[in-house]
Amino acid sequence: MRLIDVHCHLEGERFAKDLDEVLQNAHKVGVKAAFCSGVNPETNRKVMNLAKEHSLIKACFGLYPLDAIVSKFPEIQDDDFRKIESFDYKEELNWIDKNFHLCVAIGEVGLDFKMIKDLKNFEEVKEEQKKVFEEVLVLAKKLDKPVIVHTRGAELECIEILEKHKMSKVVLHCFGGKKSLIKRAADNGWFFSVPAVITRLQHFQTLVDIVPIEQLLTETDAPYLAPVAGERSEPKDVAVTVKEIAKIKNMEVEEVADQIWKNAEGLFGKI
Ligand SMILES: [Zn+2]
Repeated sequence: MRLIDVHCHLEGERFAKDLDEVLQNAHKVGVKAAFCSGVNPETNRKVMNLAKEHSLIKACFGLYPLDAIVSKFPEIQDDDFRKIESFDYKEELNWIDKNFHLCVAIGEVGLDFKMIKDLKNFEEVKEEQKKVFEEVLVLAKKLDKPVIVHTRGAELECIEILEKHKMSKVVLHCFGGKKSLIKRAADNGWFFSVPAVITRLQHFQTLVDIVPIEQLLTETDAPYLAPVAGERSEPKDVAVTVKEIAKIKNMEVEEVADQIWKNAEGLFGKI
């Protein structure tokens, strides 16, 4: 059985001590690839190096929507789990442009309005995020790379921008939008990557029910979104998601795993 985690963050502190063991655990359950997403200059370089050191890891280069604009809006607070560093996003886009052959996708990128909603200049910050996201999409299209999209509190705006740029290679990671938006994105032919937290969140069970199996992928967003609240998630947890998808779609586990691998190779190319 070949399993895949298309979105995780193994470059972080929480994997510093036992990454080898984490990768072995993943290998044992059949994970053949774990896509590690950078979110800023520091993590983009880290995932690039990890991909060189570990065959299981593939790099994705991204710009987290908050990180990308914090130099212009220092009033943006740190994320719930992460410190946000200031940098020049245009320089980082240039770096991605130069090094794109070392990544499998552009991500994570997107819009995050949740963390800025209480700011006095919300509208202005929102517009800047949208502007940066559009620049990222233009680059992804030029490089012909899929985009792995994060969206929080901005699901409709995100879909509108992706539609405006006629993006076809899209993964909506951990998509929290309502049913009508899930359907709209599915009708656009986009993919949804489902986290292991599906075991305890009805939302993702509904999403899996709505979206055709040919448009589903598995992810963990490790170390976040673990199947057990409070625990650290790992790429091996995609096995949990595949089982859950099999239940909902009334399919064999092997059949789900094979289809998801096929979906991934169709989108990202031979892995
Ligand atoms: Zn993530």
